[in-house]
Amino acid sequence: MSIAEVIEKVEVKNPGEPEFHQAVREVLESLEPVINKHPEYAKAKILERIVEPERQIIFRVPWMDDNGDIQVNRGMRIQFNSAIGPYKGGLRFHPSVYPGIIKFLGFEQIFKNALTTLPMGGGKGGSDFDPKGKSDNEVMRFCQSFMSELYRHIGQTTDVPAGDIGVGGREIGYLYGQYRKITNQFDSILTGKAINWGGSLVRPEATGYGTVYFTQEMLKTKGDSMEGKTVLVSGSGNVAQYAVQKANQLGAKCVTLSDSGGSIYDPDGISGEKWDYVMDLKNVQRGRIHEYAEKYGVEYFEGERPWKFEADVALPCATQNEVNEAEAKMMMDNGVIALAEGANMPSIPEAIEVYQDAGILYGPGKAANAGGVATSGLEMCQNHIGMSWTFEETDAHLLRIMVSIHEQASKAAEKYGYPGNYVMGANIAGFIKVADAMLDQGHW
Ligand code: NDP
Repeated sequence: MSIAEVIEKVEVKNPGEPEFHQAVREVLESLEPVINKHPEYAKAKILERIVEPERQIIFRVPWMDDNGDIQVNRGMRIQFNSAIGPYKGGLRFHPSVYPGIIKFLGFEQIFKNALTTLPMGGGKGGSDFDPKGKSDNEVMRFCQSFMSELYRHIGQTTDVPAGDIGVGGREIGYLYGQYRKITNQFDSILTGKAINWGGSLVRPEATGYGTVYFTQEMLKTKGDSMEGKTVLVSGSGNVAQYAVQKANQLGAKCVTLSDSGGSIYDPDGISGEKWDYVMDLKNVQRGRIHEYAEKYGVEYFEGERPWKFEADVALPCATQNEVNEAEAKMMMDNGVIALAEGANMPSIPEAIEVYQDAGILYGPGKAANAGGVATSGLEMCQNHIGMSWTFEETDAHLLRIMVSIHEQASKAAEKYGYPGNYVMGANIAGFIKVADAMLDQGHW
């Protein structure tokens, strides 16, 4: 079957799931030179197998709200590929969650995890539950009900979920508590745990820090650095918060943040006390980003994304498909020379074409945001050996891994005739590692 036929079959077999189709197309179209060079992959039907999840679990999650009414959500875990290690990937709690979103994320996760150098397969899960506006008790009851089903499908050598949109330290805590209550085991079955009960230092920071480390590596290839750069950041959750902190530490100035309500623009930069305020606003008060604009007297753009301002670097860190073609062009006109994706698939395919035509440094999510899952891998490693590393040790591992991901993507891109193209490079390097493992293990 040709690549085009595999893509067509995915579309027919998974109707109404455009995000999954988009992710499959993006990866498979870049594999043409690899498939041509390695007929053994076609013979073993690696493409046909890799687009089909090994297992999909969908379950009912009933819970009681604060009024005593029963609510019902849908939970799911898609265990996509375990050829190189236990399934690993986050849980997303957001009203938009349905199998098409979880499949797109799980599929991306296979290749991302392969790039981290650690033995982790790909999976993803979540629920259409919306933690926004819920009390802590409601979130706890939901998490307990969710884990009451999920626990039977996960395990420290089977599947190890983590956080994602709507699943932060609070949710991981409630999920882990329920797992322990049911199983009477203190297993390493979740990552993103708090530091005093099995978590790893640097895990909260890892995705944002890693995205900036990757940006720095891309800039280095041009003899440049983050020092003095003006940066656009979208989102104001976990990834955005720590991308801003690391960019600040490397001498850059971040001028935007956003949430689903709109964006703020602070030309003086979001640092020091203002960054502390964002951390409190989003993680403790659970407030909205427009409150930043009111507190510091800067502009708020309701319903708008933050891509229209002059800058050197852009870091989309909110959600999928948050940069369209017109916005990508606007960024090119406004001086952006490097863009790295903290979020998963934040750029639509037409936006990616704009970056590539303009020849900017473009780091796709599966390479640029792999620091999060890599540090989850480091958390599992510390749990297995029963030790905790210092912040400096863990951060050094994260930096080394991000440098290695950059190098693997660069080398694969060059080897297959696309120098500087990190999309081709990351897809090819991640794919080859998993495909070879699948070949070694026979056709199941
Ligand atoms: P959080 O829930 O902490 O933050 C998400 C942020 O994005 C919030 O500011 C949220 O605003 C905004 N957002 C979410 N959905 C939308 C939407 N539809 N339109 C506009 N804004 C939106 O999540 P994370 O920071 O953990 O995740 C952000 C991205 O990074 C996701 O794509 C995730 O898959 C990816 N990622 C995360 C990793 C991690 O370790 N956490 C690892 C690798 C990738 P609001 O509060 O208004 O919803």
